[in-house]
Amino acid sequence: MKKSGKLAVLGSINADHILNLATFPRPGETVIGKQYQIAFGGKGANQAVAAGRSGADIAFIACVGEDDIGQRIRQQLIEDKIDVTPVEAVAGESTGVALIFVNGEGENSIAIHAGANAALTPARVEKHRQTIIDADALLMQLESPLESVLAAAKIAHRHQTKVILNPAPATPLSDELLALVEMITPNETEAEILTGVHIDNDEDAARAAAALHNKGISSVLITLGSRGVWLSEQGHGRRIAGFKVEAVDTIAAGDTFNGALMTALLEGMSMELAVQFAHAAAAIAVTRPGAQPSVPWRSETDGFLQ
Ligand code: ADP
Repeated sequence: MKKSGKLAVLGSINADHILNLATFPRPGETVIGKQYQIAFGGKGANQAVAAGRSGADIAFIACVGEDDIGQRIRQQLIEDKIDVTPVEAVAGESTGVALIFVNGEGENSIAIHAGANAALTPARVEKHRQTIIDADALLMQLESPLESVLAAAKIAHRHQTKVILNPAPATPLSDELLALVEMITPNETEAEILTGVHIDNDEDAARAAAALHNKGISSVLITLGSRGVWLSEQGHGRRIAGFKVEAVDTIAAGDTFNGALMTALLEGMSMELAVQFAHAAAAIAVTRPGAQPSVPWRSETDGFLQ
């Protein structure tokens, strides 16, 4: 077991174009929005920012385009205490984009253009192998090419870096990849795609977790939105409730949970305390609009928990 305390995050970077409206447009319909803003997002970047603001020693492997917004995002990541040495500006690509509608209920509907995120190829992952080897844990999501996620997982596994997968957005995954994963953090939809178990209650969550353990994964955390998380370690499961807050939008709730959770675990907190810490950080994030603008700093999460 290594003890560098370092976290590597590999994943996506997007510029989020967020439009608030009363109801989502139906096919053929035009809806006038109430409020518009560009915020920085992408599951990889959100999780990296959550870790950086929570105080982790974190390096981020990702790609932006050779454009102005890519430069601005890179600069912001530095201000969020992230080592961006492995963030490449890729010639001829545009930075990834997410088009996000938020309706009056606070629900969201999202379409993504991968842009430079698609250029994070296995060959580029290979260039950053030392970042993976130097880390205690590698946290990934599925907005990067699947073959690159697999390549990174293989490097990590070979060098005793724990592989943590947040399998979002929901995608079926190979047994080969899942066998390299130490800890997985799907939400209910993602858990259903991976296991075929529709989750309505704790018993369903336990069955989905068992199916994921059967793939060789030691720790399964199924996030359940406002109901908290189903935590299952070596087949022993229990639900840990989250915090009650007034939700504004849940964009980046799961991302904040993942980044904060990894920070806490790498500091040596028990799983129970780490989940409480992650619940607190994610609860703060859902009380604020947008992706990265909603992610709390360590002092805010510590203050919330007092
Ligand atoms: P995702 O954003 O990936 O769909 P979830 O919706 O399951 O993930 O939420 C992830 C975590 O965010 C939850 O486990 C919880 O800690 C927190 N969270 C999400 N929604 C709420 C809410 N309405 N109130 C409080 N905490 C929430």
